[in-house]
Amino acid sequence: MKKIFIIFGPPGSGKGTHSARLACSYNIAHLSTGEMLRQKASDEERALMKKGILVSDNRLVELLRVRIQNSDCDNGFILDGFPRNLLQVELLDNLLKEQSLSLEAVIALEAPEDVLLSRLSGRRFCPNCSNNYHLTYDPPEQDGFCSCGFELRQRADDNSETIRARLRVFKEETIPLLDVYSLRSLPIIHVVSAGEINDVQKIIYERVQSTLLLSRFV
Ligand SMILES: [Zn+2]
Repeated sequence: MKKIFIIFGPPGSGKGTHSARLACSYNIAHLSTGEMLRQKASDEERALMKKGILVSDNRLVELLRVRIQNSDCDNGFILDGFPRNLLQVELLDNLLKEQSLSLEAVIALEAPEDVLLSRLSGRRFCPNCSNNYHLTYDPPEQDGFCSCGFELRQRADDNSETIRARLRVFKEETIPLLDVYSLRSLPIIHVVSAGEINDVQKIIYERVQSTLLLSRFV
């Protein structure tokens, strides 16, 4: 049976990292809709996205339908960044039903707001070689500078005001979706993502593993 997961997590929760590691542990595909759009969007869609216009929910599902036929999805996949609203939940239900697939669990990463703020506001990147750093967790050897010699910068949306707004949007978007999924007999795995990445990864893996075992025996 294919292992299919959805992961939710606020910006700064390490959602991308943890999805990728879980995908690796189970030899399943990490499907980030952001990534899918960057790769598969048409020129026309790209132009619209640059103007801040979102790609339609139906189009996203269409991309997903094609993507999950890839052989890297043979064992399953983890959805990162999708679904984002109730219509997408419904479209995903239909897609899975049509493909005779079903969700295994929803993983919900959480973290105290001050942890998220400190993680996000410490991020720096190099405009030259696009290396990423973190002032606390992954500091550059020379203060303020990349190993290539360029001065490091902070992304425009990593300032504390924008971060707070992004966290608010995340909560508003995600809580209704978690409510929908928790009404089903679907395991919701809540994990607090604070502390070392490796420790959090271990907790996620153990919780997913025990959920999978339970679902095999009931
Ligand atoms: Zn650099």
